[in-house]
Amino acid sequence: MSILRLNAVERASNRKAVEAVVPAQKVSEYFGENVFGHKAMKKYLAKETFNILTQAIDTGKPIGREMAYHIAAGIKMWALEKGVTHYTHWFQPLTDGTAEKHDAFIELDGQSGVIEEFSGKLLVQQEPDASSFPSGGLRNTFEARGYSAWDPSSPAFIVDDTLCIPTVFIAYTGEALDYKTPLIRSVEALGKAAKDVCGYFSDDVKKVTCFLGWEQEYFLVDEDLYAARPDLSLTERTLLGHESAKNQQLDDHYFGAIPSRVQEFMKDLEVECYKLGIPVKTRHNEVAPNQFELAPIFEECNLANDHNQLLLSVMKRVSRRHNFRVLLHEKPFMGVNGSGKHCNWSMGTDTGINLFSPGKDREDNLRFITFMVNTLMAVHKFNALLKASIASASNACRLGANEAPPAIISSFLGKEISEVLDRFENSSTEDAIKVDDKKRLALGFGRIPELLLDNTDRNRTSPFAFTGNRFEFRALGSSANCGSAMLALNSAVAYQLKQFKKDVDALCASGKSKEAAIFEILKAYIKESKPIRFDGNGYSDEWKEEAARRGLDCENSVPLQYDAYLTPEVVEMFDKTNVLNIKELKARNEVKWEMYIKKVQIEARVLGDLSLNHIIPVVIRYQSVLLETIAKLKETFEGEEYEELSAEPRRLTRKIARHICAVTKMVDEMIEARKEANRIPDSRLRAIAYHDAVVPYLDKIRKHIDDLELMVDNQMWPLPKYRELLFIR
Ligand code: ADP
Ligand code: MG
Repeated sequence: MSILRLNAVERASNRKAVEAVVPAQKVSEYFGENVFGHKAMKKYLAKETFNILTQAIDTGKPIGREMAYHIAAGIKMWALEKGVTHYTHWFQPLTDGTAEKHDAFIELDGQSGVIEEFSGKLLVQQEPDASSFPSGGLRNTFEARGYSAWDPSSPAFIVDDTLCIPTVFIAYTGEALDYKTPLIRSVEALGKAAKDVCGYFSDDVKKVTCFLGWEQEYFLVDEDLYAARPDLSLTERTLLGHESAKNQQLDDHYFGAIPSRVQEFMKDLEVECYKLGIPVKTRHNEVAPNQFELAPIFEECNLANDHNQLLLSVMKRVSRRHNFRVLLHEKPFMGVNGSGKHCNWSMGTDTGINLFSPGKDREDNLRFITFMVNTLMAVHKFNALLKASIASASNACRLGANEAPPAIISSFLGKEISEVLDRFENSSTEDAIKVDDKKRLALGFGRIPELLLDNTDRNRTSPFAFTGNRFEFRALGSSANCGSAMLALNSAVAYQLKQFKKDVDALCASGKSKEAAIFEILKAYIKESKPIRFDGNGYSDEWKEEAARRGLDCENSVPLQYDAYLTPEVVEMFDKTNVLNIKELKARNEVKWEMYIKKVQIEARVLGDLSLNHIIPVVIRYQSVLLETIAKLKETFEGEEYEELSAEPRRLTRKIARHICAVTKMVDEMIEARKEANRIPDSRLRAIAYHDAVVPYLDKIRKHIDDLELMVDNQMWPLPKYRELLFIR
């Protein structure tokens, strides 16, 4: 067997579990110990400073320079006591992952020594030399400065010896160059619009918060096997590899015990998360072998997203201690399930109400239906945008590909809610607003049944499902920044809620009662948004046809999906909600197209190299073995006997030779297609060319090589096979 593969497989299968380091204390005792949260703030800040900072966190009010200096002093004291030596502004550029540049605390003291220094200025704002982060042309050379600015609503934290300050990353001229900036803007827009609509139902609501609870799926693979697969190391997915005879058919991984190596990794990961204040709650095996999931308790949207981003980097670090590599790619292995990131999304008031929970009385339920229906309207109107918000080269391997759910956004409500909306739509307004019992929503069917709270009515195939007291946006890819999807959803719903308020107020102005106006508008909305509602099997072929008939966006090409960001309706929506202006939208799309191109380009190069340098030479070697055999048979046997005995090796040689020809020819063509695409100056058109002319080769070449994998002597095959990669003992 190829030495590399042999060694890797042997090491991986002999690997013992590395025991996790679990503190002796209870979780509640060390939770958040590496976070400058409430407890640390109380200890290290003066009372007045503490009050101003907590207020700023609650209300989003800006913090003055002077105050920032006091806060920085407190943070520094806390960090130094914890042995921290460096600090960094931590931000989320438009590439995958997070960025940081570490600086030591030290400054020269003028007496040939140094002192630890961390001023308010360094806390509040920095100019990282970040000119190589993609900006879609927002920073050309004369204004090349981008700066990072402190986000006080997300607490500073310590990783290793470094103090990390969560920041936004913006151009000198104020445009967002990251995910966090527009996410915060969208959270504000949604909070404001929702609060205004809440005003129809109660005067008490002063603030609406948007919540996010993500569920993170991922794969683990032994690090030696990972290192022996250049495709995994360079692209995070296998570009080659025949399906294993056994993979997920038996569902035995989903229901099985967590392997002990993995269990120890999870324990370590959880301890790290707790120290960083990430409230992780559930862990389990997922459907595919080697696939797992982790989910926290939900939090405020911006903080929850920071925690997800932080988790991804913690995971990568902790996995190394256990001789694993974590794969965040959406489709690392063909033939088994891909990985997503479900985003559970809801809104809550400062009076303790979840706006997606039906209540006990009339007002509560009308409010519930209001938010439900407006969300459906937003998802309907902006379904192409929501899809664009989750689209990426890697997620496209999971959505809309041959063994995956289609790339179509629809919403599952379940039987009860669907019936409620149907009856609402068909009731006459007079009947509906007739109050026979003050405590009942007189919709002709009494109050919305309590059983609605029972969320056993689940549909796992829906990309946007109502799950009892929240919506679950399931189309996100596992490697995504949730910010992309959340900012689109928040803005769309904020915009829709503003529209709703306008519509209702207009009817009221024409003499209708508030309640009658709300009913009338909601009824119209229910009708209008109906095409987005789909409770059936979202993975079926019939649905694809039905969705097209309903006018939902069915575009499968990622570069074209991004066009949804620049339609007049979407531009207006982002503009009116103050989340992104046209300049930002255009620049961000440039970045998206460029990212798409680069991802495909790397995959195409890696596949070309693998084919020509790893696979074909081995196949040719095996072919010569066969040819030798045939020659020897000819020496030994004659006539009909030779014909008969050499038939199989000859047939095999012929097949192999044809595959070799096909692979080398297609690799050449793929290189040509890339060259041609690279000559296109416009990035959108170049991305389209990559999608149309390069991507198809990835599948076609793979198919030949996967066939060859089954023909060539197992001993000779150079790359660890699926059956070796996919089962951790
Ligand atoms: P399932 O796999 O059945 O969807 P999980 O327990 O794995 O459920 O995940 C549920 C996720 O939903 C968790 O992250 C949880 O915090 C989150 N969640 C629960 N209630 C809400 C809510 N009201 N708003 C936002 N997220 C929520
Ligand atoms: Mg789930």
